[in-house]
Formats: sequence, C-alpha cells, structure tokens
Amino acid sequence: MSRGSIITYIGPMHSFKTGQLFGVVDAQQYAKNIAETLGIDALFYDILIGKPTKDDRNIANDVVLLHSKSDTVSDLATDFQYFSANSLESALFGCDPKKTKILLDEAQFEVGGDLAATIRDLSEDGFEFHISLLSTNYTGYAFNEQSKDILAYSDEIIFSARAYCLNCNENNPNEPQVASKTLLKDDGKPKEFIEGPFELVGDAGFYAVCRRHHYVPGKDKVRHSNYFEIDDLDVEGTILVVNDTLGVSKDLDYSLSINDITSRLKNGEKKIILSNLENLDEKPEVYARFLDDISSKGYQVVVLGSSLDANNKPDKYLREILPMANKVITTKVGSNGNGLS
Ligand SMILES: [Zn+2]
Repeated sequence: MSRGSIITYIGPMHSFKTGQLFGVVDAQQYAKNIAETLGIDALFYDILIGKPTKDDRNIANDVVLLHSKSDTVSDLATDFQYFSANSLESALFGCDPKKTKILLDEAQFEVGGDLAATIRDLSEDGFEFHISLLSTNYTGYAFNEQSKDILAYSDEIIFSARAYCLNCNENNPNEPQVASKTLLKDDGKPKEFIEGPFELVGDAGFYAVCRRHHYVPGKDKVRHSNYFEIDDLDVEGTILVVNDTLGVSKDLDYSLSINDITSRLKNGEKKIILSNLENLDEKPEVYARFLDDISSKGYQVVVLGSSLDANNKPDKYLREILPMANKVITTKVGSNGNGLS
C-alpha cells in the first residue's frame, strides 16, 4: 500500500488555520458542483473532520469522528467531532485510505494516547491528513512535545500568514506586517513568561503580532546569555527550514554552535546557514530557542536538515526548530518522506 501524507498548517492565533482546513472541503465541493452541472459521475473523498476536546467526558466515551454530513463550509462547524488517539483509529477502521481525507483542527492539544504516532501510523497506512495546530504558545517557544512530533512527521508544513500584527501602526513601522507570534494579555498587560506547557482556553486576551511587537516580560531571564551580546537589527527576522529529506545538505558542513553563531553575528553577518546539526553538542531545545531569539532581533536563519532520522524518528534538533520557523520547504521525491518510494 502506498503511503499517505500529513499536511500541517501552522501559525499564530487568528491566522485562519481552521479556514485552511475548510479549504480542503471547499475545493472538493467546488469540483462536485462542476461535475453535477456537467453531469459527470466523478469520484470524491469521504472527508472526516475533528478537533480535540479538553472535556474529559468526551475522551472517556471515546467519541469517534463522524463523516461530514454537509458539504458547505458554514455547516461544517456543527459537524466537528472530538477525537482522541484511540477514537481516531477506531473512526478510520474499515475506511479506504485512498478515498478518505482526515481534517484535524487544533491538534496541539493532548487528548490521551500518542496522537503524533497514531497520525504517523495511519498516514503510513495510506490516509491523507490535513492538520492545523498552534506551533508556539504565547511565549513564542514551542507549544508542547506533541506539536513538535507532529511537525517532524509532516510531509508538508504550510505557514498560515493571514494574521496581521495588531500593534503595527502609522509610526511603527507604517505598513501592515504579517503576524507570526501570539501575544497574550492579562488585565491589559503582556503576560509574564511561564516555563512549561500552557493551556489555552478560548480566544480572550490573545493577539496576533509581528516578531518585533512580541513582548513577553520575564523572557529575558530564560534567554541564552549570548543573546544579549548581539545587536538588534531593525528588520523582521526569519527562520527558514529546508526539510531536506533528500539529504543533499549532508555535503555542506555548517554545524555552528551558539558561540560560533554569536561571533559571526558580532562580526556583522546578518544571515546564518546551518546544516549537519547532529555534529553539535548543544542541547536541542536551548539551541532552537537561541535561533528563535536571534531571529526576533532581526537576523535571518536558514536550517538545512531532515526532520526524520535514519530510523524515521523525529530528529532531535529539527523537531525543536520546526515550531519556531516562519517558512518550511520540504524537498521530496516519490511518495514517502525519505525520497525512497
Ligand atoms: Zn507589529
């Protein structure tokens, strides 16, 4: 059986990630309408949609995903069903992978079971997943371990750049900026940095902002000390990840430690290219956060590497860096992520 795929939409709050999922249904409905008008008997997918729940009763009942009864986007919201890793597997039991697409919204939430591994296994059975998730929380760092793994397993990561910074105005910087971060306000003030998983409930207090307007009090205390030695550039920084599943970048050795990067930036370089990170001795999470921090100062970071290691397990560096990326390009040949069909 041929492998399916995992297509993941990431971005800050209010960046239309759920809308991207609905687009999958929209596109099919558009084709259905044309087929009907022309009297063509074409083949279409069964589309299952679901979102996780923090409601324990639903998890305990293992509510399965339901097929979308309606074909219009406005009706879809009422068709959403809650899922856990187990209910996902049982909902898909007996479904033909070649004729089924699965849409999962807000997949960052932990719902019991290893959701990332379940999605990976089902995609290996041939199912096609479209997933939206919050890759980072209000601190700007990775949301949780589950979202890191889902991103590492993804065949394609699409950054949803439809949110606009609500703090950019006439004076600063005088044109609309795409928002890449989520700011959380508590009593009208930016919320203090808190380490560890953060539970999001509802939309209240969340604002989409650009990197320059993302301010988290207390974040400086957890930043790498090298961060403070580097000048602030007055531009928007980037982290571009080239998910090099072909392995082309293996021939390029840009394994730069945090100290190497710091001295380059102090010498006036504004762009850093990285590859072969497995040669490094750095703590992956610390390293990824450092890259995020320097990109928030306006530097451009390009990371070349494969999100899966030789055993198809998430690469320890890439899985930390992917949630912080604002652009991901996947190199791919054939139907599976290794380029080996
Ligand atoms: Zn801004």
